[in-house]
Amino acid sequence: MSGNHDPHLGTTSVWAGEDEDLLHKPSAVPTVHSVSFDYRDVDQWLEVALAQKRGYIYSRNTNPTVHAFEEKVRHLERAEAATSFSTGMAAISNTLFTLLSPGDRVVSLKDTYGGTSKIFLEFLPRFQIDVVLCETTDHRAIESAVAEGCQVLYLESPTNPTLKVIDLSRLATAGHEVGATVIVDNTFATPINQSPLGLGVDLVIHSATKFLGGHADALGGVVCGPTQLVERIFHFREINGASLHPMAAYLLLRGIKTLHLRIRQQNESALEIAQYLEAHRSIERVFYPGLESHEHHDIAKRQMRGYGGVLSFVLDGGFDAVRTFLPRLRYAHLAANLGAVDTIAGPPATTSHVECTAEERKALGIPESLVRYSVGIEDTEDLIADLEQALTSTAEAMT
Ligand SMILES: *Cc1c(COP(=O)(O)O)cnc(C)c1O
Repeated sequence: MSGNHDPHLGTTSVWAGEDEDLLHKPSAVPTVHSVSFDYRDVDQWLEVALAQKRGYIYSRNTNPTVHAFEEKVRHLERAEAATSFSTGMAAISNTLFTLLSPGDRVVSLKDTYGGTSKIFLEFLPRFQIDVVLCETTDHRAIESAVAEGCQVLYLESPTNPTLKVIDLSRLATAGHEVGATVIVDNTFATPINQSPLGLGVDLVIHSATKFLGGHADALGGVVCGPTQLVERIFHFREINGASLHPMAAYLLLRGIKTLHLRIRQQNESALEIAQYLEAHRSIERVFYPGLESHEHHDIAKRQMRGYGGVLSFVLDGGFDAVRTFLPRLRYAHLAANLGAVDTIAGPPATTSHVECTAEERKALGIPESLVRYSVGIEDTEDLIADLEQALTSTAEAMT
């Protein structure tokens, strides 16, 4: 504190003790809650404001904790640039609204995440943006829709909740033939299991809320890709204002430290559980890309290093069986989330496709007796024993 006289208590409460540089290289990334950043030298301030020099001005644009999160995901996706968002849906909608203008055309899949499909069906058409949603695994239909011309080809693999897999490098080639920007939602695979940029895709999107954070305690989204594209999306977001909160960035950063360990365990458990369920008499069908019975196991094997922590299955006995079965699970949150250290289960009607009506789900080919099961990091044998007791007592209760 400087000056000729001692300040009064009000001024002291505002200014005292803060003169030093507060960030003495702490070993853990600190949560910088500050909205703005100070400059004594106005010329330096101007340089940063004009982006001639790296620095922070205002946390809607950039923030040190948020930047550390972006850098970590950028390295995991081996991308040139990354920018972050308050949620996964903010990442998706900001990206689409940055890239599309009235008169443009998007080609995508019927099985995109529920919120994404709402953007396609409810919001983009209001801006005279034409949306074509193809049968998710019909590669020929997607290629011919793309060949008619489009600005964006928007993909997701594996999909939610029936774990469909599409050939990303084949479709990236199709998109590039017409000059489209090819986007992949990589939330289900994570950068541990799948690297879309390496398969020729332009932009990778994550809901960091799920596996990246992994602890179901922070919302966030991120987009990775070439600098020139990511900067345009960053600019839209800094003005639009869907910025990631530093506290959420801190939690996501801490979560990512164990991403590879969690995914290793979840890959292993999910495969074992999928095999167990496939052989079970009360289960009509299991969807998991790691099963040899999966329609596109060959593609998954080629483009993924592991098959992920989410599977889904159809119970004998319709929605009544689902209603009876779910509360009998001891080691599963019944909740609208996935990708956490805790196992989470739920039907599409209250999870992935809560935004859709029953008719819409039917049109999307999503059975009402489907259960989505996101495997946590618990011991595999405990999860299998839990499923076994819940299935047995459901079968008893239903007869
Ligand atoms: C959850 C999810 C989103 C949306 O993410 P939010 O963080 O909830 O906005 C997008 N895509 C996929 C595949 C998801 O699972």
